[in-house]
Amino acid sequence: DRGDVELDIELLYKAVPQLAKVFHIIDKIGEGTFSSVYLGQAQMRDGTKELFALKHLIPTSHPTRIAAELQCLTVAGGRENVMGVAYCFRKDDHVVIVMPYMEHQAIVDVIGSLSFEEVRLYIYHLLKALRHIHQFGIIHRDIKPNNFLYNRKSKLYALVDFGLAQGTADTQIELLKPLRKHWLKEHILPSAASRAPLPVRTQSSSQKPVRTIQQDLTCNCYFTERVCNICIHTLKQVKQSSSYPLTVTNVALSSCTAAIDVWSAGVILLSLLSGRYPFFKASDDMIALTQIMTIRGSRETIQAAKAFGKAVVCSRELPRQDLRTLCETLRGRKLVSQGAKEPPMALLSRAQRGAAKWRKTSPDTAYDLLDRLLDLNPTTRITAAQALQHPLFRDL
Ligand code: ADP
Ligand code: MG
Repeated sequence: DRGDVELDIELLYKAVPQLAKVFHIIDKIGEGTFSSVYLGQAQMRDGTKELFALKHLIPTSHPTRIAAELQCLTVAGGRENVMGVAYCFRKDDHVVIVMPYMEHQAIVDVIGSLSFEEVRLYIYHLLKALRHIHQFGIIHRDIKPNNFLYNRKSKLYALVDFGLAQGTADTQIELLKPLRKHWLKEHILPSAASRAPLPVRTQSSSQKPVRTIQQDLTCNCYFTERVCNICIHTLKQVKQSSSYPLTVTNVALSSCTAAIDVWSAGVILLSLLSGRYPFFKASDDMIALTQIMTIRGSRETIQAAKAFGKAVVCSRELPRQDLRTLCETLRGRKLVSQGAKEPPMALLSRAQRGAAKWRKTSPDTAYDLLDRLLDLNPTTRITAAQALQHPLFRDL
């Protein structure tokens, strides 16, 4: 409540006293695991007043992590639908990133009333932001509506929150370049330390079969004092595998290429076309995988996993859904399941009318793009730059 917010504002002024000289902090507008965001007003030199968003990062964040987030904003931000940075304040371990304030709507509040044209523009502008950051070798890794600010009336868009960003192998963001060597490489698999391809060993009956573990070689170890989850996970795989010696290949997993952001854009489009947000809601990776299989088909998922040396077992076959039918069905059912005061028949017909309108206005190209964004295989998935050339956006 207001009391808590006022207390937080007071604590922020105390932690970073310089802020008080520049800003009148009005409200708290966002609260996440790693930061709190405040609305502040500043009196400019010419006497006008301007609004800013002040992102206070939790003091326990790794300094390099904080600097990397700031560097993403300063290097890539301020254009192409990516938020820019105005100032940055620091005192001791407290860092506040100051950005221009952008008024925006939460997608949950508008999803039911968006027209197809608005959905098309939203995805177009999201893809534009992704193309831009991917050109710099930034993988955002947390693409979701809360991190893509949307002002419906003025048609403004801004990608925010590089708190989880990672660099591609050839990233232009200095601080996203992994400096410390991969923990696994140093401690467990010294033979994999070189990026040169390893000799292929042939199997013979006297030898144990050689298993290939595809290991992403850029990991989080650099950012924490602890060994990161990727390494722990791989280490488990190594230990469980009875088949030493191992061959390690340098093929990055999907989570470590820009394709992961494109997948997220696909899930957002799926959400907007079906009128359901969130579309997927999973408490762990296995449930997430099951939900994906339900939409994209179990056979297709198993095949895509195989291409990455992973085995997926599914107790029964789940057919791949036709995306258009799926979205239209969910849309048509939405009003009915919401249980408004109208009699069921009136609701049903309203839902059907709504669905019919979408059927008319949403072209097949929208579902074709959706299918390409949600390609289960990250190596064949459409890129943001390619997606912008899709027929759906021909006139833009
Ligand atoms: P976190 O890492 O805590 O998720 P974000 O950078 O995503 O932090 O910001 C959290 C929320 O604060 C956003 O979802 C948005 O509502 C709001 N916010 C962030 N930056 C701005 C901005 N420049 N203008 C307006 N609101 C913002
Ligand atoms: Mg966020």
